[in-house]
Formats: sequence, structure tokens, C-alpha cells
Amino acid sequence: MADTFRILPVGTTLRIGRTGQQCRIRSFMDSGSQGAVYEVDVDGERFALKWYHSMIARDERLRERVRRAVERGAPDNRFLWPLAAVEAGGGFGYLMNLRPSGCVKFTRLFSSRASDRVILPLRDRAAVGAEIAEAFFSLHAKGLCYQDINFGAIFLDPQRLSVLICDNDNVDVDGQPATVAGTPRFMAPEIVRGDAQPSADTDLHSLAVLLFYLVFFHHPLDDLTAASRPVFARTDELEVFGEHPSFVFAPDVDVAELERHGLGPQRRLWGELAERTQQLFIRAFDAGLNAPRARVIETEWIEALRDLRDSCIACDSCGFEIPWKKSSGQAGDCCWCGARLQASPRLQIGGAHIVLAPGARIYGSRLGLPSAQLNNGVAGVVEGDHSEIQLRNLTSATWSIRCRDGRVRAASPDSSVALAVGDVLEFGGLKLGTVEI
Ligand SMILES: [Zn+2]
Repeated sequence: MADTFRILPVGTTLRIGRTGQQCRIRSFMDSGSQGAVYEVDVDGERFALKWYHSMIARDERLRERVRRAVERGAPDNRFLWPLAAVEAGGGFGYLMNLRPSGCVKFTRLFSSRASDRVILPLRDRAAVGAEIAEAFFSLHAKGLCYQDINFGAIFLDPQRLSVLICDNDNVDVDGQPATVAGTPRFMAPEIVRGDAQPSADTDLHSLAVLLFYLVFFHHPLDDLTAASRPVFARTDELEVFGEHPSFVFAPDVDVAELERHGLGPQRRLWGELAERTQQLFIRAFDAGLNAPRARVIETEWIEALRDLRDSCIACDSCGFEIPWKKSSGQAGDCCWCGARLQASPRLQIGGAHIVLAPGARIYGSRLGLPSAQLNNGVAGVVEGDHSEIQLRNLTSATWSIRCRDGRVRAASPDSSVALAVGDVLEFGGLKLGTVEI
């Protein structure tokens, strides 16, 4: 009989409920408040096993949720979803795929230890934000709610800019009685006040907090006076995140006050965002706080974050990243150091303008291709030996560049082609976009 109180010894064999297959513990991977995660072997294939602590494993509703999740299947490939329930000796757990190598905890983006921190430019953080919004769109579209969206629920591949949503055992049909309240600072105000339980509506608030944090490295409802208090008590938590939450970038906010509290860079970036994106955040953290139906939905975030992702330029002088404003037609001056910004060439695809700065990527989603297949981009922008802009083919197919003089240059997988204004990018004979400046 398996010991459900202690770490399962290597070599322990458990029986998988329905199929009767054997699941053998290979190694211990991680543990948390609910249980431990092991690498296991099932018929020669490697999986991860989440095995609950015995007190939690007795929760019949949890078992039922996991069984239903297995039957339902993952909303899309961005979820580390339960694949099979495992029951043995009174204990309970589930199998899931192993986390791919290269994935790190999302929290490392915000780590206070420099050696631990994963640094992504604003452009890549916006790409990751759009991925996260897409994942939860898939989940909500199935009538489900996650109940506890927070940093700890996500793994990130900083190279591919892809995400994996974990801890899916809280997922339930929207409207069912919840078993968790959520994570402090991510919970919707009505949950903090004790007026509501987690739902798809409250997920939207948590998602908005997470996306704001991803762009600005700051909580959208942070109380600027908190630092002057010796302890941030539970009553403060209720006041700041439940009773009277207020948005740090509300239109009537005192800019000097923000600067005094060290939010100068964030405030400057806020001022450079497209007005449409500002309005989304204002809605999320103003009207949306008390009217769940006014909250910003995933497709709105996806569009805004893709625009931000594709528009970032960096100041040559100080490195501050700023979205290029299509309306002005000019790069303008850096909002941080005042230096004149260099105009970058752009690729025009339909109504979208993708800034071709080194490090940028052209995503399948812009080309009408399924982003889940091509979420690390169709092409990457690199700088050539003579500072010229080149496009590197990131796909396994050949695409081509039709030059302004009519010549066609093929780009085989992993090769790069220099770009000039007027060139046309073609993919499988399809005109995709024209380089402009
Ligand atoms: Zn600058």
C-alpha cells in the first residue's frame, strides 16, 4: 500500500484506474501544499505524476473534477492537463505530460534575485501576454473557469515565448461551487469582500492583473501609501483590493505622486501606450472592478497585446522600449531620455504594421496561420554584418522575398535574407506584406 503521507520511494508502482497500467516512480520532482510531483514511467513512456497528500486525496469532489478533466481533454496545447487518474491504496493523483525542457517558472520574470531573474524585453512580454490570454480564451470558451489565475500557475519558455498553464485540478464548469478563493492580490474585489466565489468573470479580473503586471512590473491596484505603514494587515488587504480598489494610472492620478513612489518609468511607458490599450486597462481597473460584465475579455487583450508586441522600438541611447505610434507616422523622441528615436523599417500586413527591429518576430497569427503551431514565429528579424535588417526563416518551409526590381530570393529554413524598402514577403505564393519605412 502506498504511503500517502511521505515522499513515494523510487520504484513504487501504482495502478492507473481505468486501464490497469502500471505507473512506476522514477524520481521526485517537486512538492507543494497539495502534494508532490514525480517523474514516472508508464509502459516505457515518461510522464509527470501529481500525487496528493492523503488529507487532500480524500476530497471526493477533487477526484471527480480530475476524472471529468481527463474525460474532457485539454482546452488546447497550452495546458499541462490531467491525462489519467491514478488511484492506489486510498491515495489519489493524476498523470500529465512532463514539462518540456526550457520551461521555467513564470515567477522568475519577477524574481528579486538578479541571478534567478529571466529578463524579457517588453515586446516579448507582450507576446507572452497574448499567449496567456489565448490559453484562457480556449478554457473559457468551453464553459470552464480556472478559479485561481496567478503567476504560480504558469510555466514559460523564454526562447519560444510559449506558456504552459499548470495546476488544472481547480478547473470546473463555470458556476459550480468553488473549492478555492484564489491567490491574494489576484482575486477579484467581490471575492476579497466575500460576496462571490471564483467564476469565469473573476478569472477575467485575475487575468487583467497578471497582464498589467507583465507589462509594467507593478500591481495595478497597489496602494502607494502601503510603504509608510509598518505592516500590511488583513484589513488593509480588504480595503485596497476589496472595498476601495483604485487604479494606479487612473486618469485623475497625481503624476508627481507616482514619480515619488518610484513609478516614473511605468508612468512614462503608460503615456506611450496606444490609447485603445490604455482604455482597456482603465476599463479593467475602473468600471470592471465593480461590474464583472464590464471586464475586458480575452480577445480584446489578445488584439491589444499583439499590437504592442509588433510595435516596440528601443531607444538607441538609453534602451527604453516604446511602442511606435502608427498615427504619428514618426518615431518621435524617447520618453525617458529625450533622444531622437531612429525610425525602424516596418512590414505592413493588412492593417497591421510590424516593426522590423532586431529581435522582433513575425508571428503566424498575423498571417492567418494557427498561432499554436507557429507560436515562436514564422520569421525573426536579425541585424546583418553591415547593420542591415535581415529576416531569418524560422519555419521548416521555404518562403521568399520578392524585391522591388522583380527578383525573387528564396529563404530556406534557418537562412536569412536582407530586406529593403518595397520588398514583398511571400509565403507559399501568397503575398504577405510589404516593407515600408
Ligand atoms: Zn532614451
